Amino acid sequence: MPAPVRIVVVGAGIGGLTTALSLHQIGAEVIVIDSVHELRPLGVGINLLPHAVRELDDLGLLNELCRQSVAPDLLIYCTRRGQEIWQERRGLTAGYAWPQLSIHRGTLQLVLLDAFMERIGPEALHLGSRLLGVEERQSGPVAVLERGEVDADVIVAADGIHSVARAQRYPEEGPPLWNGALLWRGIAEIDPVRDGRTMVWAGGPDQKFVGYPIADLPNGKQAFNFIAELRRPGSDLAKAEDWNRRGSSEDFLPDFMQWTFDWLDVPAIIGGAPETFLFPMVDREPIPRWTFGRITLLGDAAHPMYPIGSNGASQAILDARVLAGCIRRHALDMDEALASYEQARRPATAAIVAANRGLGPERPMRLVEQRAPDGFDEISAVITPEEIAAVTEEYRRVAGFAVSDLRRGETLLNEPY
Ligand SMILES: Cc1cc2nc3c(=O)[nH]c(=O)nc-3n(C[C@H](O)[C@H](O)[C@H](O)COP(=O)(O)OP(=O)(O)OC[C@H]3O[C@@H](n4cnc5c(N)ncnc54)[C@H](O)[C@@H]3O)c2cc1C
Repeated sequence: MPAPVRIVVVGAGIGGLTTALSLHQIGAEVIVIDSVHELRPLGVGINLLPHAVRELDDLGLLNELCRQSVAPDLLIYCTRRGQEIWQERRGLTAGYAWPQLSIHRGTLQLVLLDAFMERIGPEALHLGSRLLGVEERQSGPVAVLERGEVDADVIVAADGIHSVARAQRYPEEGPPLWNGALLWRGIAEIDPVRDGRTMVWAGGPDQKFVGYPIADLPNGKQAFNFIAELRRPGSDLAKAEDWNRRGSSEDFLPDFMQWTFDWLDVPAIIGGAPETFLFPMVDREPIPRWTFGRITLLGDAAHPMYPIGSNGASQAILDARVLAGCIRRHALDMDEALASYEQARRPATAAIVAANRGLGPERPMRLVEQRAPDGFDEISAVITPEEIAAVTEEYRRVAGFAVSDLRRGETLLNEPY
């Protein structure tokens, strides 16, 4: 038996913690460092697509996640007037063996953290440890921290959209790229919309409202997560990509005041949120290399993408699982392990970054706005179901969650990359 590989993961976000749990699952020795002094349940809602849920199931977390989330079974696309364009089944009702889960990001992070504490132990988590840079030395890679250094066989930089490790390798890259849209995110406590298992995408690329429940509350209401999006190129509100930056409803609520449909009251939902967070729609250009010696990138550090199509957290989870599988398979050759990981994941995620720039599965919403700006009597006169299905099916294929690609019982950990 070779000695266990010792791996340092930088970042205790969704990608970093899933990586740590997966590495522990294959018998590697892992420690995680994060700059924050305390992991608090920050953020708002996110979606886990069935391919990511399959991986979390293999980590034994499915029951707990189902308990703390909502599994949507329908997605309705509609216009800014509430006219329905299309609806599609999601999760189990779409034929997947795993549900899609809508969950508070902080809840997901704490479920991962609890599993980490139980399985790996608190001594393997080093908070208050800011990474300053990574160095490749003769003895192996070293993470240089604000206070001290840590050496390892492999360093995985899962340090998010402002990754220090990435900036070190791509010093000319600069800040993330903004496409002119601003996103206000919030959570309101409301009566269930429709059956309480429905997601809504309304509007188009210039103005959009996305909403879905993330928790059933004891009083019969639901925590309903929303993202209100406005195109505001040149706005000075886009000045920072900080997940915790507060938004102000005066900046966007007036634009949504007319969005009252018979089944959805957008202004009431926005008005019911105690706080909102403002984030610009940003990504980064895909890079030609993630791996430098025994140091590699993962999650947003490797491939930040527009939050379109529910892929940000899901793709970080897939990275984690492929990486752990490659490390297990190539346990005697870490260079080969990291090369296999990068070969599997870099082109796949670059394709999603590109698809999201082209609006991903939301393209039919733009087509309908262009073709029928004043509404329609019959949607079939504006766009055909085949045209919509072609776009959405292609997106599922690119993002790796076509129903036919997800068979029961398999996990990325066992894929022969
Ligand atoms: C506080 C927070 C709130 C978020 N809220 C949302 C949300 O509401 N909706 C949404 O779609 N996405 C949100 N995201 C982003 C989302 O989590 C990611 O897009 C996705 O889950 C991929 O995860 P990741 O692990 O690659 O990155 P992240 O989840 O961003 O995790 C990166 C981790 O690296 C740590 N880190 C960063 N720099 C350093 C450093 N120099 N040294 C050590 N550690 C470092 C950070 O503290 C963080 O814990 C949020 C991210 C954060 C950090």
